[in-house]
Amino acid sequence: MNVKGLVFLGVLSIFSLSSCGSSKNIPQKVVTKIIRDTVVMNSKTEKPEMARAAKLENYKINSDNYPAIGQDERIRFLVLHYTALDNPTSMRVLTQQEVSSHYLINDIDDDQIHLLVDETKRAWHAGVSKWKNLDNLNFTSIGIEIVNKGYTTSNGVQTHYPYPEYQFKKVGELTKDIIKRYKISPVNVIAHSDIAPGRKHDPGPLFPWKRLYDEYGVGAWYEEADKQAFIQIAPFIFDSEFVIKETQTELKKYGYEIQVTGVWDEQSKKVLQAFQYHFTPLKTDGILNLESWAVIKALNKKYNP
Ligand SMILES: [Zn+2]
Repeated sequence: MNVKGLVFLGVLSIFSLSSCGSSKNIPQKVVTKIIRDTVVMNSKTEKPEMARAAKLENYKINSDNYPAIGQDERIRFLVLHYTALDNPTSMRVLTQQEVSSHYLINDIDDDQIHLLVDETKRAWHAGVSKWKNLDNLNFTSIGIEIVNKGYTTSNGVQTHYPYPEYQFKKVGELTKDIIKRYKISPVNVIAHSDIAPGRKHDPGPLFPWKRLYDEYGVGAWYEEADKQAFIQIAPFIFDSEFVIKETQTELKKYGYEIQVTGVWDEQSKKVLQAFQYHFTPLKTDGILNLESWAVIKALNKKYNP
């Protein structure tokens, strides 16, 4: 069957708001939403597929050479968040205000995961952000918001809230599917806090990154043996300019936005705290210590040799 050039006009919804018996002078409001996709033959697989393409009045869009070899996915990062709001408020804020995410995972033990923004479109979830010298990650990422209370502070002590098992399973299955389809590198599965240290804390130290790695193969994790080997050769003091510079360089190499200053300054503290939320969640004070030093070295040994 030759389906080249066949154009689908998918009318998603056409509905009208009636005037509810009020004055005839109020014009009827008609809302329409149309998706225009073109079915093209993929010359390599010889299967028809949907593509967004121009549909012109006077010219034919020729797809005989579709698809070109030189292309890849625009999506390179997967960013996880918590909403710090309950279910209904999360849905309202993420659909009716100027923030959004591709997916929303509620904290109900059901079989639902909400799609709010088409994966091919940009959702507004990352804000001012940077990873591996790339900024504004909204352009190149998929964002998943997870309903979780975030944290509360009492007498200067922060309390975070755990992620229930049924919710973790939703995150696991969804993220596994996404990284496979877009071939997202392990080090590009990141927390909002990783790409906006200090400004953002989500999904927080109780998000089970290690379990996501162990059970679903999603994201990055260090080898315990490497960590132990680095601990054996670790420096005794962590406030020397040499060790600070080395650590800043390692964090930068891994992907964090940090200046190599040789001083454990405010930016270093914020970045290390984001790192600790992700990889050493039992100690998240932003102070450079033996474990953080060994883990960042172990991560770079594995992923950025
Ligand atoms: Zn966030």
